[in-house]
Amino acid sequence: MGDKCVFFDRDRTIIEDPGYLTDPEAVKLMPGVDLAMRGLADEGFKLVVVTNQSAVARGMITEEGLEKIHDELRRQLGERGVELDAIYYCPYHPDGTVEEYARESVDRKPQPGMLLRAAKELTLDLTASWMVGDSPRDVEAGQRAGCRTIRVRSATEDDGGDALASRETPHLEAGADEDAQADFTVRNLVDAARVIVREVAGAPAVAAGEFDAAGTKTAGAQPVRQPLDKMSNSQVLREIASHLREQELIDEESDFSISRLAATLVQMLAIVALIWGLVSIPGIMADESGLSVAVENKRIAVHVALLTAGVLQLVALTFFVISRRR
Ligand SMILES: [Mg+2]
Repeated sequence: MGDKCVFFDRDRTIIEDPGYLTDPEAVKLMPGVDLAMRGLADEGFKLVVVTNQSAVARGMITEEGLEKIHDELRRQLGERGVELDAIYYCPYHPDGTVEEYARESVDRKPQPGMLLRAAKELTLDLTASWMVGDSPRDVEAGQRAGCRTIRVRSATEDDGGDALASRETPHLEAGADEDAQADFTVRNLVDAARVIVREVAGAPAVAAGEFDAAGTKTAGAQPVRQPLDKMSNSQVLREIASHLREQELIDEESDFSISRLAATLVQMLAIVALIWGLVSIPGIMADESGLSVAVENKRIAVHVALLTAGVLQLVALTFFVISRRR
């Protein structure tokens, strides 16, 4: 018995498709992809991308170029706390212009070759796994591998609505169009993840945090996340927003800088000088009547200590301001 897995198509499922993607800088995740993937990983699913890349057979990109694009995809997901277990691609196409790739392949979807290979290499349980993609060939590949299937139809394809609009159509109600064979049809990957999480029979739900009327989390000190399948659309958007804020905070906190270190050190010196000055004051007060040189020296020392504390405090503040502006 292997692990359960969600297979994802790449173009128009997890990243935008500008035609044939050949430039790593053009890699752009679709909205909510990281949220969906994190939710599924939390449920114990492996995350595997399976993508037809006939651009290689057509001579538009090399396999090395493709690797760079996939490195960038991994990097962007990694920044958002998602780690893919594998990316499989099929570079072949029977009409290809590059001889070594110009052939049919069992890996080319709708053939299930990539999924079957992944199952073997990663020890996956295909009957507990899902295939998610935007095209009928993704659905067919998933079915031929023995997985359940979800077709993601982005709103831009049909009614031009909001890409994050939530509507899920069990296939029995989906009409007789080409996507009728998918187990579910959804508008985006977050909805796909919700369906999968919900359909996992008997799986313990993630601890549910309640949302009050104002939409803020009412959970205690420990932040809790709603299970994806119980979240409304606005909650999903809030979740994405709060995740982005968390990311920024984490980035800021881990942003070690020399100026911050200097600020901390100078601040400590300022405190030491201040304490030393303050502690010495009662001694001078006790000797108030005396006009000896020793007392006068003590008085000067206290003034110097307090003045030094003030100057160090200003320097520390300056360093803090510099470190914040980086
Ligand atoms: Mg696609």
